[in-house]
Amino acid sequence: MAGHVPSLPESFAPGIDGVFSDRAGFYFMESKVPGLSKVILNKLNMKDYGEYRAALDGKTKGAFRNYKEMFQKMEETFKFCVSCNKIPENLTEGQTLKRCVKCLNVYYCTKECQRKDWPQHKMFCKMLRLAAIDRLVEWLMFTGDLPFSTVKWTRPQREVKGWEDWMAMQGDLTPPLDAILSSSNMGVLWKNVSRPRPEDADLRDSVWRIQSEFLSRALTIGMALRLFGLDPHAKPLTIHLVGAGISETMGARLTDFDELDRMYSGHQGVEVVMVGPEVVDGPIMRPPLINFGPKGKTYISAYKSLFHQFYEELVETKKAAKPDLVVGFHPGFHATQGLGEGWLPSLLLLRDYNIPSFFSVFNEMELNNSLQILTELEMNIKGSGQNPFSSQKPEPVQSSPNNPPSYCNSHFFYFQGLLEEEQVLQPDNYRNLWTL
Ligand SMILES: [Zn+2]
Ligand SMILES: [Zn+2]
Repeated sequence: MAGHVPSLPESFAPGIDGVFSDRAGFYFMESKVPGLSKVILNKLNMKDYGEYRAALDGKTKGAFRNYKEMFQKMEETFKFCVSCNKIPENLTEGQTLKRCVKCLNVYYCTKECQRKDWPQHKMFCKMLRLAAIDRLVEWLMFTGDLPFSTVKWTRPQREVKGWEDWMAMQGDLTPPLDAILSSSNMGVLWKNVSRPRPEDADLRDSVWRIQSEFLSRALTIGMALRLFGLDPHAKPLTIHLVGAGISETMGARLTDFDELDRMYSGHQGVEVVMVGPEVVDGPIMRPPLINFGPKGKTYISAYKSLFHQFYEELVETKKAAKPDLVVGFHPGFHATQGLGEGWLPSLLLLRDYNIPSFFSVFNEMELNNSLQILTELEMNIKGSGQNPFSSQKPEPVQSSPNNPPSYCNSHFFYFQGLLEEEQVLQPDNYRNLWTL
């Protein structure tokens, strides 16, 4: 195959034996909302990066020999009639699945099926058009063309309340976006996919949506720090990113949280330790810090373990610093059958050690279910709501696209410690409820 093949070190290999895979809802959430890792692998039906690389090098029989074939395989996973669920193998002789010409996202086996589906599909066709572009452009995150670099913050973090404020500091984003539009990989992409290149305006929007998903993590951590009154200018901080899974750690780079450095320029040191049973090996796999991290630079490390085990083995033995804040993106503990084995010990640890904790979820339903679990555990829930730094990229449910999409980090909740009896009945609280 011609040219440089962008791929990651062979050591990247997602665990397929993760204890959470089906039990604690991780698998459920990750397949419903594929993160970066799944974009290529899931669609190519490959189990790890080794296989992906071998395929690109032409070593895997029956995989693919070039980009055209790679993108074709990715597209094949979307090929089923969304009306009657027929897959290509079940079509009659001479029949082919045809794409909706408006969104180029969903397929139909017959005109009849398309007609029948339209009342449903018309509500989502516009969104699915964007998603069809995003799922291809996302490849540029894989090649390293994305994320593009951003500027040092000119306003204090507390004044940056949402994407609009963040945008205002960046100035004109057209030059970095246009640089990506004219990159050679963007050229490779549209030369090899089975659809025409969208208009530049559409591509710019798509690149932005994908970048927003990447930035959403650092910006969300920044918001969590503010909610708990933690300031890395005042003292060095340790943040544990719990339940870090394949989507956060596969392909993770040491620079993934540099936006925190631009947010808190010249800070006292920020350490992010990613902890989870499905943490993927890579450059971030290095021991956590015992002392403080370097000033002005966010230090990322990763540890493959359940959080409560990590805490017992490293934090309590002083091999890792105590967390000032614990953050979890999409823990999915609402979806779990086995909360007891997976999240429960960690949640109880967070509660009983009074650790400031912040979690994000994909949608409002998940938020409500999670809050119910926390209420049952008598957690002191301090707040919840819509995340102003939610990812802007819609994630349709692949198996039934005519449904509202999810957005990464769309909602959040945060808690600390145990709810005390008085807090429920305190006269002050009681009065607050009734005073206008
Ligand atoms: Zn059909
Ligand atoms: Zn459509």
